[in-house]
Amino acid sequence: MKIVTARKILEANELAAQRNRNRFHAAGVFCINLLGSPGSGKTTLLEALLRHLDGPLAPGVIEGDIAGSVDAERIEALGVPVVQINTQGACHLDAGMVEAAVADLHLQRLDLLLIENVGNLVCTAGFDLGEQLRIIVLSTSEGHDKLIKYPAIFRGSQAVVVSKMDLLPHTDFDPRRVAEGLRVLSPEAAVFHVSAVREEGVAELARWVAARASARSD
Ligand code: MG
Ligand code: ZN
Repeated sequence: MKIVTARKILEANELAAQRNRNRFHAAGVFCINLLGSPGSGKTTLLEALLRHLDGPLAPGVIEGDIAGSVDAERIEALGVPVVQINTQGACHLDAGMVEAAVADLHLQRLDLLLIENVGNLVCTAGFDLGEQLRIIVLSTSEGHDKLIKYPAIFRGSQAVVVSKMDLLPHTDFDPRRVAEGLRVLSPEAAVFHVSAVREEGVAELARWVAARASARSD
């Protein structure tokens, strides 16, 4: 019997993540790992963000899902190059999956690569994909207690997007509790309050992403 320890898997992931990072750097591509629960509104946010990024940045997308291609079809409809990864049961993306998907993208033509991870707040946090930035999407309908329950993923993120702000009046979600949690977990994290369906807060997020991307390696 052969036993592969979690440590070995994470070491292999770290090597693949470094290869991805080198490729992104060589191609001048800024890479973002977009995280969040199932139904937090990652794809809807991505669509809104892509509509606001129509400036000089050429975006590409990798969609991670356990099965299907519904999210990739939504991105393709916007005319943005997209590759769908089906993890076939795995509940997170790893750097090797991203490395394989990148082979199907023309990296040289891109400035920005947005990776929508599998909807999961647990093990997605442990797998570096080679990204320069992690953004976590937290919807008002999920509850502000996610920061207490899943600290690791918030600790590793540079921005939190509170999504579905249009639903706020119908929930007990308290944005102040998010700010309080982040002061401990990730004090430098930027916070955006967004309603993608109402196009509120998206332009601000797009400007921040564009500024981070253009400050990357030059
Ligand atoms: Mg999605
Ligand atoms: Zn997983």
